[in-house]
This record gives sequence, C-alpha cells and structure tokens, in this order.
Amino acid sequence: MDKQWVVFSHEEGLIGIFDNYDEALKEYKDSKDAYENYVYENGEHDPNEDIILAAINKRFYSYDTKNPTEDSATTTYWDFKEDCFSLNPIPLPTIKPGDKVYSVGWYCSICNVNVSPQHVTYQEEHDVRAGGCGGHVEWMEVSHD
Ligand SMILES: [Zn+2]
Repeated sequence: MDKQWVVFSHEEGLIGIFDNYDEALKEYKDSKDAYENYVYENGEHDPNEDIILAAINKRFYSYDTKNPTEDSATTTYWDFKEDCFSLNPIPLPTIKPGDKVYSVGWYCSICNVNVSPQHVTYQEEHDVRAGGCGGHVEWMEVSHD
C-alpha cells in the first residue's frame, strides 16, 4: 500500500486525504498561510488553532462491494476495509523550477555570494582574476535560487 497523508485543522476539521505528499504539503502550507493572514488582518489569535500534516498509519472504512442485495437491484452489499501503511520515512518534496535548493559549495562572506569552483584559487581565496575580492572563501551549505 502506498503511503497516504492527512491534513487537518481545528477550524476546518478534515481538509483532505492525499496520495501525494507534495499535494498534502501544499495544502498544509496553504492552510498555515491562510491562518497567519487571518491573524494579521484581524489581529486576533484562535488559541485552539492547530494545523496538522500527518502520515496515515491505518484506515478503517466502509466499502461498497457493488454486489446487489437479493431483495433489490438498486441496493448493494457493504463491507469494511482496513488499509495499513508502512512507516517508511516521508519522501523529500519534489524539486520544482523556482524552488530554493540547498547544496554544498564555496561561499565568500565578504562579497556575500556563492562562488563557483572556477573562481576559487588553490589558496581557497575569491579569485581576483575573476572579479573576486581575494578574501577567504568557505566550503559550506549554500542556496541557489
Ligand atoms: Zn569575495
């Protein structure tokens, strides 16, 4: 069974059940933003607000077998179903164009820029021949827009 996720808020109750983590995450973020905007616009907090994105572990629900009952052609037999989901880690969100991506690379704290490896000297300095400041560069996590 593929994983499913549920998004819930105190205000709206069940917002949705999702097969796709990215969709669930988007719904969660939208709900968060909507609540934050509500607070900024109205200046009041709901102390009970509680927005949740959770992985579903088990689901137990009514299931229409589509088999007609003996006494009626329009009524069908119903049954129960239970789904169980493995507790594998949540997958990382899919990266889309425009998303911020974090990786490891060279960074010049003097110029406050990410420096491509071609512009770093053997002395780990921001290469002046490439328009750099000549300052020390660091190998660290950088963001690419
Ligand atoms: Zn620099």
